[in-house]
Amino acid sequence: MAASANRKRVGVLALQGDFQAHERALRRAGAEAVEVRSAADLEGVEGLIIPGGESTTMMKLLEEEKLLNPLREFGRKRPIFGTCAGAILLASDVANPPQASLGLMDMEVERNAYGRQLDSRIARLHVAASKAEGEAESEGVESDMEAVFIRAPIIRRVGQDANVLASYQGDPVLVEQGRHLAATFHPELTEDSRVHLMFLRKIT
Ligand code: GLN
Repeated sequence: MAASANRKRVGVLALQGDFQAHERALRRAGAEAVEVRSAADLEGVEGLIIPGGESTTMMKLLEEEKLLNPLREFGRKRPIFGTCAGAILLASDVANPPQASLGLMDMEVERNAYGRQLDSRIARLHVAASKAEGEAESEGVESDMEAVFIRAPIIRRVGQDANVLASYQGDPVLVEQGRHLAATFHPELTEDSRVHLMFLRKIT
């Protein structure tokens, strides 16, 4: 397994949404990207990204493909990174309107919470170092970052085990909880690889 340190095999849920941008971002960060469309595709991947898109549609497709329980099982052992709709899927509680989810992170998210006139925007965030990274490795992570928000949810509550890595207008936008990571913005749409690298470091 020594060689996998810089070439991790990471699945990207490829049923709907901007999964191809995540594949490119993973490759830029030095990982191998594997499209996941079935439970069998999860075999052999060391972590998974659930991309942005439309969370209601994604949940429906996950149900149709019988992927809900395999993903929950996967998440009990391996890291999952959810961006935007993917973060909604990871949350235990979803509002506006309430909907089912994978429930792998103890947090409440409100969908489309920034309102219509602010559908999408680019903001600057200050990002803290991930707890999983140890002091020596945090260099290059704690700094400012450009973040793209598209019909983003707002994380209204995080659980006790959560670590808020970045906030915007007072609300958490990048949160880790144990092995999982959730962003309400789209790090796959900027050239900056730091959030993907942060996730890759969670894969051990
Ligand atoms: N508004 C979408 C939803 O609720 C998420 C938007 C996105 O992933 N960019 O599912």
